[in-house]
Amino acid sequence: MSDAENTRQPLFNRLALIGVGLIGSSIARAARAQNAVGSIVATARSPETRRRVAELGLADQVVETNAEAVEGADLVIVCVPVGACGAVAVDIAPHLAPGATVSDVGSVKGAVVRDMAPHLPEHVHFVPAHPVAGTEYSGPDAGFAELFVNRWCILTPPPGTDAAAAEKLAEFWRRIGANVEIMTPEHHDIVLAMTSHLPHLIAYTIVGTADDVEKLMTRSEVMKFSAGGFRDFTRIAASDPTMWRDVFLHNRDTVLELLARFNEDLSVLTRAMRSGDGDKLFDFFTRTRAIRRGIIDIGQDSEAPDFGRGHAELPPAPIPKPYSTE
Ligand code: NAP
Repeated sequence: MSDAENTRQPLFNRLALIGVGLIGSSIARAARAQNAVGSIVATARSPETRRRVAELGLADQVVETNAEAVEGADLVIVCVPVGACGAVAVDIAPHLAPGATVSDVGSVKGAVVRDMAPHLPEHVHFVPAHPVAGTEYSGPDAGFAELFVNRWCILTPPPGTDAAAAEKLAEFWRRIGANVEIMTPEHHDIVLAMTSHLPHLIAYTIVGTADDVEKLMTRSEVMKFSAGGFRDFTRIAASDPTMWRDVFLHNRDTVLELLARFNEDLSVLTRAMRSGDGDKLFDFFTRTRAIRRGIIDIGQDSEAPDFGRGHAELPPAPIPKPYSTE
């Protein structure tokens, strides 16, 4: 068998997915497309989601309980909101196969390790993970196989984790398109508080503020003129309320610490504006522009203007005066 064929052999025999929303269904689609697993068994909390997962053909088998799902699985990935991970660990613990790898996709790692690890038996490998990829949509219809391509998946194996098991899970994530990095849960939670949790909090706040200032302007004006910047915050602020409630409750201290730093910086800019200190504003904005450039340079976003949004064609008829030169 050639090397190329060899790499297409499944890495795991049986993948159990607990929770099949945006992330779980994207894993199912990608694992199947890349032949990363022999078969997939899935379960979700509600009968509606289980029915939809079956209709979409996302798994070889859809079962009703977490216990049934993990029977005989050599890879279990828990894809539910962070606050529900502990209860799932309690549920699945007695049914896990010896030698199985148990993982998750939670956006917070310290709390997930704290809530899951004590319940899992010694005979499994616990390798928590967080794919840093997503959209503002939820549910099994929202997923797609390419979600993780060229995105990072962070693994946070606790000390003493079997190195071969961690590497095999890393290989799984690479197979479905991601780059893999290893860090401690604590460091993960600091980095993600800055790059994801705080930006979401700011987006939720600004969209809420716009909704509250109805004495100054109408809601339809806010929407109509949103291309001035507001629109980009609304995409983030449309993210799933359950997921984000859990993120803020489970990474609370770190987000609060960074929020304090953010408020200090906001005060600096406020003072610069009030005192007419244009140099201060200019220097600050020059520094932040360089960060955007850096993100494009490492391939984490498109160079296309306006985040790659399409632009309408000008109408073929002459533009009405006074803009037309005719
Ligand atoms: P989602 O689309 O809303 O799907 C969530 C899944 O979890 C559904 O199957 C849902 O079941 C189930 N669920 C919800 N509450 C539950 C509970 N209390 N107990 C058991 N199951 C429950 O969410 P998602 O975006 O895939 O997020 C799943 C995980 O991925 C979260 O931990 C999140 O932090 C992490 N994550 C999300 C993103 C993102 O951008 N969305 C990115 C990276 C990581 P029902 O459908 O039956 O209600």
